Amino acid sequence: MELTCCVQQYAWGKLGLESEVALLKNSSDSNLLINESAPYAELWMGTHPNGPSTLKESKINLEDWINSNPECLGEKTREKFGNKLPFLFKVLSVQKALSIQAHPNKEHAEKLHKENPNLYKDPNHKPEIAIALTPFEALCGFRPVEEIKSFLKSIVELQNLVGQEIASQLINSEQHQTEAALKACFTELMKCPDERIAVQTNAYISRLSKMDQDLRTKNLASLFERLHSQFPGDVGCFVIYFLNYIELLPGEAVFLGPNVPHAYIFGDCIECMACSDNVVRAGLTPKFRDVETLCEMLIYSCGGSVKFTDVRQLDEHTSVFAPPIEDFAVAKIEMKKSSKYKLKPKESASICIVIQGRFIADSVVYKRGSILFLEANKSLDMEVTDEKGLLMFQAFSNA
Ligand SMILES: [Zn+2]
Repeated sequence: MELTCCVQQYAWGKLGLESEVALLKNSSDSNLLINESAPYAELWMGTHPNGPSTLKESKINLEDWINSNPECLGEKTREKFGNKLPFLFKVLSVQKALSIQAHPNKEHAEKLHKENPNLYKDPNHKPEIAIALTPFEALCGFRPVEEIKSFLKSIVELQNLVGQEIASQLINSEQHQTEAALKACFTELMKCPDERIAVQTNAYISRLSKMDQDLRTKNLASLFERLHSQFPGDVGCFVIYFLNYIELLPGEAVFLGPNVPHAYIFGDCIECMACSDNVVRAGLTPKFRDVETLCEMLIYSCGGSVKFTDVRQLDEHTSVFAPPIEDFAVAKIEMKKSSKYKLKPKESASICIVIQGRFIADSVVYKRGSILFLEANKSLDMEVTDEKGLLMFQAFSNA
């Protein structure tokens, strides 16, 4: 069944036809008028109440349909998650950095929701995976500690913000002290009053402009300047010296388990997450910042490689990104030229989105932007009719 899905026009989205979200929506619905000056940030595929999908033909809400046909979810999914689709599938087009954030684990999410239901609207955890469609930039997890120490030593403005004593504690820490010292240091930075941040940011911006190219590269000058232009004087600009900066190539992925700090910076990606909207934010955002909660919950372990590499090749055309959770996995179906292909049945219901190319199945044509809901254990006989082949992603439950 084809789905009609919601677009979220958050301010950080790419504008008009620059946005992959807008292009996909436009391709599947030619009646849609794209406003060139409006942001198209996210396409939501699933049953989340803040952007529920509907069946294209009957206009029935997908969740209502699932409620009347719960067997479509598959036995294992129902045992584990009840009669609910456990994941939310998205496309993101990021022009401007998203807030520095982390997502609570299940237990913590329940507690936050209970204590502050207006801020934390649901009790579910929100592990997420992002798979790049275009070169994609993000901050993710703490850097190897030697890198953080080196930035702290060389950037006097950063030292001023966290204070000499706390900076020295981290710089001189031994391995068993590192996590505590890093937590103290990061928390101190995030709690700095706005006025102090403004003073140090301005001093640093002017110093960066006078550095030679080598030093600018070493200090990630253009990234700092870009974030500063998007969020002038925001403490988040300095967070680049604590978190790994990664550039994903199309097809590369990053998985964010609970309590891992991250921020998406630029590019288009496929994203899949547990069905939740639970975010604790603390920088690069005009939204509410819960610095206390964020700094308390983060995992302060340091490390370099954060790309997700557990990708299993199912056959010639399908590879599966299966993170260590039960809520979801994502398959990438890729064909280089026109051919026939039988999409393997999944034990759970799934949602597919066509990113490139077109195919015919059961006499219906699906093309770029088409979104399908597949019942559990149903396969799909596809005839790819585009000479350039096909690129499609499929989200399903990993229970
Ligand atoms: Zn996130």
